[in-house]
Amino acid sequence: MMNNFAYTKAGSMAEAIKALNTKGACLHAGGTDLLGCIRDGILAPSRVVSIAGLKELKGISARPDGGLRIGALTTIAEVASSAPIRDKYAVLTQAAADVASPQLRNQGTIGGNICQRPRCWYYRGDFPCARKGGDLCYAVEGENQYHAIFGGGPCFFVHPSDTAVALVALQAQLAIAGPAATGPAAGKIVKIEEFFVGPDKNILKENILATNEIVTEIRLPPPAAGVRSSYRKVRARQAWDFALASVALVLQFENQTVSRARIVLGGTGPFPWRAVAAEKALIGKRIDATVAAAAGTAAIEDASPMRDNGHKLQMVQGAVEESLLALA
Ligand SMILES: Cc1cc2nc3c(=O)[nH]c(=O)nc-3n(C[C@H](O)[C@H](O)[C@H](O)COP(=O)(O)OP(=O)(O)OC[C@H]3O[C@@H](n4cnc5c(N)ncnc54)[C@H](O)[C@@H]3O)c2cc1C
Ligand code: SF4
Repeated sequence: MMNNFAYTKAGSMAEAIKALNTKGACLHAGGTDLLGCIRDGILAPSRVVSIAGLKELKGISARPDGGLRIGALTTIAEVASSAPIRDKYAVLTQAAADVASPQLRNQGTIGGNICQRPRCWYYRGDFPCARKGGDLCYAVEGENQYHAIFGGGPCFFVHPSDTAVALVALQAQLAIAGPAATGPAAGKIVKIEEFFVGPDKNILKENILATNEIVTEIRLPPPAAGVRSSYRKVRARQAWDFALASVALVLQFENQTVSRARIVLGGTGPFPWRAVAAEKALIGKRIDATVAAAAGTAAIEDASPMRDNGHKLQMVQGAVEESLLALA
């Protein structure tokens, strides 16, 4: 059952940050994840602060450096259908189009997508696991077929966001607003790779945000010449579903040779996981079946599967290999 909570519909960023300073407050964007968390008793806020009315957080626009700005309240549907994103950042278009269902893409925001809470079934269920402040990770001895093969321990959840995987591959940055003490309202800028926090650093949180901080925008760097990108998601059903494994590729080619490579995996670790060994396996090479297979093998060399999720190794290996051949 939901507890009672106060509700603030913020009319300005300053008002939102002030309201978030209340003990037990939490931020509400599209609400597609937050309301489920409250309903399931994972969160019991004293105050819910809606930022939905802050127009300055909506929309997609060009940046002076040739890159793009995506306001945090831009819906996932708008990201998926944006022509400038499709033209220059195909990996993000494809990842956004693969999120959930049309209804959820219309209501869910990109800021909420990267900040959504874990989907581990023990966490979402009635289990006082370590991520809720308890002593145990139930996935270790329990049902762990959907859990982490990279970066797990002491919690083994996998980050559920599709767009975050593409954004890490694109080397996006996030603008974050907070009170003067933690960052001026104009915002601090962080690389998205430094935004996520692994369970070995903090088992209670998935990112660096304090409760009174708000992601205001996502910045995409200008695309370099010769860059091609793609996102491939493996899921149990072709209807809406979270990734069992996914691969975001951003490759720069000179003639047909790979000069720079970013390979990022989703559905496999507590944050989008860079397959650095696979990236190295591509540099200076033309992609053919042998090179793609070697990169697929390199992508899983650091994996530590759990009892029931060894199948993810083949999924990652195959998805990397197939994505590389398709992109080349
Ligand atoms: C049935 C179902 C299937 C789904 N399938 C997928 C899927 O396949 N792939 C996928 O990627 N996602 C999937 N999702 C997740 C969905 O995409 C997210 O719920 C949605 O993107 C969250 O956006 P929102 O605006 O509704 O966030 P909210 O629900 O409002 O917020 C989510 C969390 O992020 C925080 N937050 C939101 N915005 C900000 C901000 N600007 N700054 C700081 N914190 C913020 C909130 O406090 C809250 O903790 C699924 C969800 C459901 C319910
Ligand atoms: S994987 Fe994490 S969220 Fe899931 S039961 Fe273990 S500690 Fe809890």
